[in-house]
Amino acid sequence: MKNVRELVRPNIRNLKPYSSARNEFQGNASVFLDANESPYNEPFNRYPDPLQWKLKDKIASVRKVERTSIFLGNGSDEPIDLLIRAFCEPGIDTILSIDPSYGMYQVAADINHVACHKIRLNDDFSLDASDLLQAVGPHTKLIFLCSPNNPTGNILSREEIYKVLSGFEGIVVIDEAYIDFSSSPTFLRELTQFPNLVVLQTLSKAWGGAGIRLGMAFASPEIVGILNKIKYPYNINQLTQERALELLNREEAMKGELLEILNERTRMETALREFPFVKKIFPSDANFLLVKVDDPNAIYHYLVEEGIIVRNRHTVTLCEGCLRITIGAPEQNKRLLERLAERLLING
Ligand SMILES: *Cc1c(COP(=O)(O)O)cnc(C)c1O
Repeated sequence: MKNVRELVRPNIRNLKPYSSARNEFQGNASVFLDANESPYNEPFNRYPDPLQWKLKDKIASVRKVERTSIFLGNGSDEPIDLLIRAFCEPGIDTILSIDPSYGMYQVAADINHVACHKIRLNDDFSLDASDLLQAVGPHTKLIFLCSPNNPTGNILSREEIYKVLSGFEGIVVIDEAYIDFSSSPTFLRELTQFPNLVVLQTLSKAWGGAGIRLGMAFASPEIVGILNKIKYPYNINQLTQERALELLNREEAMKGELLEILNERTRMETALREFPFVKKIFPSDANFLLVKVDDPNAIYHYLVEEGIIVRNRHTVTLCEGCLRITIGAPEQNKRLLERLAERLLING
């Protein structure tokens, strides 16, 4: 690969970042008169730790990575945006992604006036590394892969991902938002071998923390340093830092919930298969099923009328006829099955 210094935009390489009061003083003190905070309304009168070390130490131990390899963002959305801003010169540099996949890569690229080229997956949603590498041009800086992929649910082949990591000179981002639901291993263990790798994870899915907005980017300390340099100084608020620690401290409970969701996924797959309007259920390594049905729009609207919302993916590349159904709690899944059975009775 090219080294990171060479890949990063020159203005970012040369940037002198804002230095906050909490950044400049490190150490123990009892009287803080440096940040123009109010002395009242403790503890929220104080600015939070800009580098979130307490939380990172916990994540480092849960995920078995060095704490200097962790960047924390306001959801995964933040590192997705910051990576594009750090490495892509607007109007010149480009990113590559797969189709279908998560919509935020394209949106973040569009906002930054960076072209996003998308390479169609095979009909079974598998990845062909050579298709992707063939589309790399002189200005391609980032490749976004999502595995397990959204909205398809499948894990991408490790071999093909290795080919992308070895064959591309720029940065490869693997979005592992759904990795906890998969029996395949994470790419976190590959970080030391591939300095051009960034792995994204989140508290929003298996950990049950979508509301507190905490995304994690794991990468070399050099890449983490670049993201830290351009983020808002206090991007993770105190409430989120505290709640995230609490969530990470209930890992065992989370694993129990995870097992329940995986059991329900199997149960739902079997139950949905029985409906005559279900044409296909794609294999899932995530907490949702992509289900191909006869009349997706009609079923979608019928369910809305019944107060049940699924995601209509009918117009997405390779997903014609498909609804994406999140696996809920047993009683929620039961409601969905009951409503579908009722529709069958009405429509014959
Ligand atoms: C849900 C999801 C995320 C999570 O985004 P957050 O901003 O962390 O909530 C990231 N990537 C993919 C592919 C997702 O489906």
